[in-house]
Amino acid sequence: MTHIFHRTPRVPLQTAVRGEGCYLFDADGRRYFDGSGGAAVSCLGHGHPEVVAAVAAQVQRLAYAHTSFFTSEPAEQLADLLAGRSPAGLAHAYFVSSGSEAVETALKMARQYHVERGEAGRRHVVSRRQSYHGNTLGALAIGGNAGRRALYEPLLAEAHHVSPCFARHGRQAGESDAQYAERLADELEQKILALGPRTVSAFVAETVVGATAGAVAPVPGYFPRIRAVCERHGVLLILDEVMSGMGRTGTYHAFEQEGVVPDLLCLAKGLGGGYQPIGAVLAAARVVDAIVGGSGAFQHGHTYVGHPVACAAALAVQTVVERDGLVARVAELGRGLDARLRSRFGDHPHVGDIRGRGLFQAIELVRERDTGEPFDPALQVHARVKRAAQERGLLCYPAGGTIDGRRGDHVLLAPPYIASVGQLDEAVERLGEALDAVVRGLP
Ligand code: PLP
Repeated sequence: MTHIFHRTPRVPLQTAVRGEGCYLFDADGRRYFDGSGGAAVSCLGHGHPEVVAAVAAQVQRLAYAHTSFFTSEPAEQLADLLAGRSPAGLAHAYFVSSGSEAVETALKMARQYHVERGEAGRRHVVSRRQSYHGNTLGALAIGGNAGRRALYEPLLAEAHHVSPCFARHGRQAGESDAQYAERLADELEQKILALGPRTVSAFVAETVVGATAGAVAPVPGYFPRIRAVCERHGVLLILDEVMSGMGRTGTYHAFEQEGVVPDLLCLAKGLGGGYQPIGAVLAAARVVDAIVGGSGAFQHGHTYVGHPVACAAALAVQTVVERDGLVARVAELGRGLDARLRSRFGDHPHVGDIRGRGLFQAIELVRERDTGEPFDPALQVHARVKRAAQERGLLCYPAGGTIDGRRGDHVLLAPPYIASVGQLDEAVERLGEALDAVVRGLP
């Protein structure tokens, strides 16, 4: 047993020693295609020379300066770049070190916004079942994944959950997209009314749900209806694009495909592409103006807020993504990946659904394709597929979740934006071989 307290201490781990392009290499020289970019992180792959050079130069020049004394050039430049690419209004960036911190920050910004405007009674946060917003206690409290919450339930702040938008599992027979979206928006409105007018601070949702449900996009018209409900009740809309943002779904922000703009946007993973730990909240001018024009100070902060090296890494990643037109490439590669998944798994007896956007795609694993009956959770099919894929040189991101009380397994693919068509084809092949081998070996 090593001295590191690993997440799963009884499972032996390979040691990763090198990364190059879309591949990771372990200490025994084995090569793995990074088909999930870790957890949808490594958008530019590994060892990108321009990012490496930018990080090295920044460490040499200025590794750290506390933000109570100084701002830094890379932080300012990164904020400018993000503001320039985001819809009018989402003009202010607050930099943190992770996705969970971004979510915590957004919750606090929303709360302070209301207090500054004289609405101190707004304290509730509404979010959705089957969502994941991070593992720190505040983010976990609003998360709606029963499994991740269970152990810590007694520690979690009060939060309120409504149904996710997951047409495959949530839409009623005969219901159209519009009717389904309307019903969900109505559920949110009823929840806000039940909690009490002027007591709700924010509604939080992943634009495209990642870890807990596997690349689930909303039905058309869902977010505009949700937006309208929020507006009617003075509730801020916080979108969590920690996983689905920064080009991953084929547009720069995932919400661009939904016809809404949030008040607060949480970003992380693809922002720094894994070269440094960094997250961000992009805030609407009205939120920032209320705080700047009110008390004048945001009551929040961490030691590594706006870390110069993290910002330099993200600046370099984002500069390459923009210069090389990689978001458009994601959209194109995503169409190809979707087609490839459909041709390989479209009539697979144990694949119940193929879904996603851009390079954020998942297959749902089922015992019975026709009935959609899930595998017995005790079998941990998703974990078996992950292991079998890794043995075949493919890294993918599996999860078994509960979707409104119903268990299900899925495997997520979120490869680097620089992957080639051939590499993606091969990844799908490896995934197919892994799934077939797992199914053959099931009790
Ligand atoms: N929000 C979403 C949607 C996520 O997928 C994650 C991580 O998977 C987080 C927040 C938390 O991010 P982090 O693990 O960087 O704290």
